[in-house]
Amino acid sequence: MIDIHERAPYQRYLEGLARGALVYQHCNHCQSAVFYLRLCCPACGSVALTLRDSQGLGTLYSSSVVFDKEHNYNIVLVDLDEGFRMMSTVLDCAAPSIGARVKARVEHQQSAGPRVVFELAEGGMA
Ligand SMILES: [Zn+2]
Repeated sequence: MIDIHERAPYQRYLEGLARGALVYQHCNHCQSAVFYLRLCCPACGSVALTLRDSQGLGTLYSSSVVFDKEHNYNIVLVDLDEGFRMMSTVLDCAAPSIGARVKARVEHQQSAGPRVVFELAEGGMA
């Protein structure tokens, strides 16, 4: 019998955010890092996935600035040290450089719920 939580990966992601954690899955079969959360490993198909907390440290893989009438913002792809990639934004930095080291935190927005955002990490460039 499958645990009901195994059927709701996004719910488990939201539960992580609620306690301030960025969670991902580790495949016990092929050792892949899996993100976003899924029912089975996209690399090998195994359902033996373990939920883990990320340390939130990563390196910018790409960085784009969106020019907007209200305010400009950036959209980045971050390679987390645990081996997965995610899209987000770097706050308090107009145009972060590819290769910059960043640290994640959970931002609780009034209107749209919690999200993972990044800030430049101590040490700057990788
Ligand atoms: Zn796998």
